[in-house]
Amino acid sequence: MAVREPCPGCGLPSGRQVCQEIFNDVSLRVRALAWTDSLKTWRLMHDVYALQHPDELCSTPRQLVLHLGGVGLAIEHEGDERAYRALQQVAERAAGSNDPFPPPPGLPVGRGSVRVDSLESLSDPPSLAAGIDRWARATWLAWAPLQPLAREWIQQALALVPGRRS
Ligand SMILES: [Zn+2]
Repeated sequence: MAVREPCPGCGLPSGRQVCQEIFNDVSLRVRALAWTDSLKTWRLMHDVYALQHPDELCSTPRQLVLHLGGVGLAIEHEGDERAYRALQQVAERAAGSNDPFPPPPGLPVGRGSVRVDSLESLSDPPSLAAGIDRWARATWLAWAPLQPLAREWIQQALALVPGRRS
């Protein structure tokens, strides 16, 4: 049997394919349970997963704004729905800018100590929501060097939300 390579994104010892399968499985579970706010949790898990596999999923300025900004919005602004929509406009602008990519100081090498397998056995809404929140916070911390930039995008998004002062 071939020796399994750890997942090149998040470092999961069982490898990239198992990592993706666990993610798909948990993602379907969240969708199927469909509790109040499950869509928020579902979106957050896609953003966190992208931050743990940035070479594949944050490979353009647009993706980085959406996923890093999305996790920042979830953690620091309780997932403000209107701000998410505005963040898409910020992402489109970033796509057309000449700013260096990836932005300095570059994508973090460490992706956090919590991985998707921590969600594998969770099967009810409260534990899934809590588990994904824990995973998101650990990943956000791993991205600390780019948090100031993410907060700039978030402020730009909040400024686009009518009637809202940021
Ligand atoms: Zn992985």
